[in-house]
Parts: sequence; structure tokens; C-alpha cells
Amino acid sequence: MEYQSTRDSAVRVSSAQAITQGISREGGLFVPESLPVLSPEDYRSLAKKSYVERADAVLSRFLTDFTGEEIASCTRAAYTSDRFGSADVAPLHSLDDRTHILELWHGPTCAFKDMALQILPHLMRVSAGKTADGKEIVILVATSGDTGKAALEGFRDAPHTRILVFYPEQGVSPMQKLQMITQEGANVAVCAIRGNFDDAQSGVKHIFTDPAVARKLETQGMMFSSANSINWGRLVPQVVYYVSAYCDLLASGRLREGQGFHVVVPTGNFGNILAAYYAKQMGVPVSRLICASNRNRVLADFLQTGVYDRRREFYATSSPSMDILISSNLERLLYHLSGRDDAVVRDLMARLSADGVYTVSDAVKKRLQEDFTGGWCDEEQTASTISSVWREHRYLCDTHTAVAVHVCEEYRRRTGDGTPCVIASTANPYKFSSSVASALGADVAALDEFQKVEELHRLTGCPVPEPLAAIQGKALRFTEVCRREDMEQMVYRLLHIAE
Ligand SMILES: *Cc1c(COP(=O)(O)O)cnc(C)c1O
Repeated sequence: MEYQSTRDSAVRVSSAQAITQGISREGGLFVPESLPVLSPEDYRSLAKKSYVERADAVLSRFLTDFTGEEIASCTRAAYTSDRFGSADVAPLHSLDDRTHILELWHGPTCAFKDMALQILPHLMRVSAGKTADGKEIVILVATSGDTGKAALEGFRDAPHTRILVFYPEQGVSPMQKLQMITQEGANVAVCAIRGNFDDAQSGVKHIFTDPAVARKLETQGMMFSSANSINWGRLVPQVVYYVSAYCDLLASGRLREGQGFHVVVPTGNFGNILAAYYAKQMGVPVSRLICASNRNRVLADFLQTGVYDRRREFYATSSPSMDILISSNLERLLYHLSGRDDAVVRDLMARLSADGVYTVSDAVKKRLQEDFTGGWCDEEQTASTISSVWREHRYLCDTHTAVAVHVCEEYRRRTGDGTPCVIASTANPYKFSSSVASALGADVAALDEFQKVEELHRLTGCPVPEPLAAIQGKALRFTEVCRREDMEQMVYRLLHIAE
């Protein structure tokens, strides 16, 4: 299996190359040249297997230049019970017989990013062994909060690797910030930027694709790679949990073989829902992909109209990991839906960067709407959903998950469609204690972050994840802030390279 660039189909690389490089040189994203399909017998047999065995089956279809042993070494190093709480790495919690919450936050940083970022360092190690000629890999990350911490935790003290994380100074939750600035490890650095996530992401992309920067790193025996979801190594592990959810539903009899279900995903950069789209192409009977946005509803509007228009006000919401107006992974979907037409993608991306808006063709819009439905949820609805789910089901969900639950309920009301739904739950509620406790009616404004956590625990009795409790009292290691224009200089400084 080879990988093509969305902006130049003639570029073809192995999966190891796609993972070490992160992004194609002309700025395109790597996609597999074809999508493997698993048979009904494959699913039947995977239903009896463990999460790591399901991961082996999916990864081996995509990473064809990895040996079976290499893949197994990665999956077993990543998805251990002591890091994910049990061998059931991504468990389903059913609210009723047709509403299943896929809990993706049992990893060490309590957000779904761990599902990919616990294994990415291992995939990167194997890939670099095949392609990087002994260079030191510098992982550069832009984060809306959860990716940064998960990447730091995944890559900390990984040999021949350094990791630098940029986050928007005002754009992450207090707990997310604390998690990052207290990060331990000798090869890590974190810096805030004055700007929002889109500024951080475009700054990082710019540094990545600037040949002068690449040459400078080369002279130091270093090369960049990415831990953002532009990296194929981030996406492929996410396909696994949709396959696994289907297998769990089959194994427990909650779904019949081949019975369709919808997947509802709280969406920002479009990585998680794109993984569900890939799972569907692989034969998982996903009926509709329901894309849930917060007040930054650029995707909901796009799915309805075919016009992607980022020229709008940016809102800081209670679901900050979805406060994004430029959803990078949409580029991959556009490539697939346009019949792998790189000229179409180049044109749309050029328009987005020059004008901030593009319109897809009627044919692409039609294909888009065959698979995807968009919806969105405002701040008040997010809070009232947290509260109603708690009242009716005694289930505590975080703000991002609540956005998806609301969009799911709204979809059902609008359409009368009773198809079972799997709702991706992307963070543990204690990562957003302030918003979640307020939604339950507590007045926590005067409390510090850890008192808010305690208050939420007092109100609900839900266990506080150990890694979050342990942050209290840790030293603040990284308190620097830089301007967006200074990110490149900051990279050199953090790497101790002369400018
Ligand atoms: C990253 C993140 C999202 C958005 O996921 P994408 O793959 O970027 O669409 C949603 N919720 C949480 C908690 C996240 O950390």
C-alpha cells in the first residue's frame, strides 16, 4: 500500500515515509491509495478478540511495510491496561438500547487524543528506523488543548526525539494548560502563543513546509515531523476504535451482523470523524456520519450548503478543543470525494488561503451529503445537555461529548430516524470541571481548578482520574508566551540552534 499526496497524486510514499515526514513537501496530506475492506467473517472473528488484536488487524492492512511483529510490538506497548485502566481500551456505555457512548478517554491524559498519541511514538520509532537515516526527529505540535498534552506524554523521553508544543494562550481550559506546563521529561518544551488555535496551526504548518527551515535542521542532524492529525500515523489508530465498537456491539448482541448504525462525532479538525469514514469504507456498517460542531459551526454550514467559509467570528467556547475554523482533515475527504483529483484540492485550498472561502462542485456536495450530516450546539444547549444526561441517566459527560449528544438528539427529533447511534465521547468531564460543574448548577466561579474538581466529585461521586489529581503541586516548567510571528525563532531557541 502506498500513500499519495492530496495536492499531488504523483507523490507516492510508503507508510513509514508518510509517518516520519508528517506532511507532503508541497503541503498536501498523505492518504492511502486504496482502502482495504474487511469481510463479514473478519468482523465475526474480530468480535471475539481483544482491542490490541483488533488494532493489529486494522493496522496491518494499512501499514503494509511494517512486519506483523513490528505492528504487534507497537500495539502492545501502547494499549496497556495500566495506561488505559483495563484491556477494554475504548469501552461502550449504553444510555439506552440505541444510544451507545464510545468512551475514548481512558488513556493517561483523559482525552481521546491518547488513542492515537500513545501509539504514534512507537509507529514513528519503527518508521524512522526504516527511513530517517539516524536523524533526530523534532515533533512540532499546534494544539487546541488535548493534542499537546497527549503528544507530550506519548513522546516524553522517546529516544532520538524532541517535542515542541504551541498552544493558544487564551484558548485552552485551565486543566489543559496545567497538564501541559507541568509536563515532565528531558526532551519536551511548551510555549503559549498570542492568537487562537488556527494561528498556532498555520504557524506550525508554515515552519514545516519552509525549505529554509528544513535545511537549517538538516545541518543539525534533525528533521521535523508532526503529531497533529495531519499525520497519517494519527488517523490510522483512530480507525481501530470504530471497528472495535462495531465488534463490541456484535459480541454483546446489541447489534445484529451488518445492521447499520450512525456515528456522531464532536468535531474540530475533522480527524476523528474522518477515521469513522475510513471505517465505513472498510466495511463497518456505518449509515450516517453525523458531524457535531459547537458555536464555531463552519462545518455544519459547509455540510448543509457546500460552501466552506471561515470568514466569520471566532468564538471561545466551553468545548475549546473544537474551537477551530480551519479543519485540516477535510482536505483528505475532499480528495476522496473528488475522485482523487489533486487539481481540485489544490484549487480549493488555494481559495481557502487567499479568500477564506470555497465552494465545492455539485457532484462533490452530493457525495458529501450522501454520507455526512452536520449539526451544531450553542453554549446553553451544551450545558443543558450535560445536566439532562446526568439527571436522566446518571451519566456525566464533558462539554465536547455533550455537543455530540445534543446534535444526536436534535437529528432524531428532526428526522424521526430510530437507527442506533454510537456517540464518540472525547474527554473525561474532569478536564472541564468548571463548565461541567456549572452545568449541574454549582457556583464554582470563586474556586481554584482543584477545588472545582473536588466540587464536581462531591456533586456526582464520579471518580477523579488519577493523572489529573496528581497535577496539583507539580512545578510549572513552561510559562513562556510568544507572538505568532516569532514561532520560528522560538523553535530555534528551544532546539538550541543559532538563527
Ligand atoms: C481534539 C478534540 C476534538 C476534535 O477532534 P478532531 O479530530 O480534531 O475533529 C473533540 N473533542 C475533544 C475533547 C478533543 O480533544
